[in-house]
Amino acid sequence: MRIRLLGTGSSDGWPNPWCGCGSCAAAASDGILRGQTSALIDDRLLVELGPDGPRAALRQGVDLRAVEVVLVTHAHPDHHAWPAWMWRGWAEGRRPLTLVAPAAVLAAARPHLDPTVEAIEVSAGDRLHVAGYDVVAVPATHAGPAAGPAVLYDVTGPDGTRILWATDTGVLTGAALELVGDGAYDAVLLDLTSAHLPDHHDLRTWPEQVAELRRRGAVTDRTAVYAIHLGHDNPPPDELDSLLAGWGASAPRDGAILQLGAQAR
Ligand SMILES: [Zn+2]
Ligand SMILES: [Zn+2]
Ligand SMILES: [Zn+2]
Repeated sequence: MRIRLLGTGSSDGWPNPWCGCGSCAAAASDGILRGQTSALIDDRLLVELGPDGPRAALRQGVDLRAVEVVLVTHAHPDHHAWPAWMWRGWAEGRRPLTLVAPAAVLAAARPHLDPTVEAIEVSAGDRLHVAGYDVVAVPATHAGPAAGPAVLYDVTGPDGTRILWATDTGVLTGAALELVGDGAYDAVLLDLTSAHLPDHHDLRTWPEQVAELRRRGAVTDRTAVYAIHLGHDNPPPDELDSLLAGWGASAPRDGAILQLGAQAR
């Protein structure tokens, strides 16, 4: 599995373009610009459809023509921007596409979907097989029902590589841990917004969550652990990088390509 990180930032991005705080200044002077968190898996599966992702793909030298599945976690505007469906509707050569998302996202998207899009509503605990990928919807600790109810995605690729896309979420519930404790992941990508608790993680809860996943066998020494959805309530990038390194993790930049599973070995 190959994951291209279209963006790794919080909803406001990091730096927040309106902000003069030290963390934003340090990120800007290091040239580390993070847009809204989104990923493109094997060019076929797009995770999150906020305003930043599609343009970031083009800036990274790829387009979305080969996308067969769009997974959206919840209806917050950095994860789902319904005009994207209208703009896709103006594209030539549109291929059939499956949108997998919770109810609130589908309610916003449906008026704008053309017949090439099949919409599948998911709620926590649902398991489905789309375009060769096994997808499990895991309950997020995030926002209320009006925004979802928000889910996270456990995705296993055709090559057997298994990842956990865990944003946006605060500390996982027992029900979520039951689902994700079912064997080891090749990669875990976990929310580290560092603000707006308890809907997100911070520098206290993040390593505790990783430790809990390790206790349950979901994270092992072979699991790559990444912090995503990063915002300016985190310390400056070099400080954050060294904290994460101490926890056996990292904060890949926008545009990073993660080679996982069989491709990494
Ligand atoms: Zn978000
Ligand atoms: Zn700031
Ligand atoms: Zn959110």
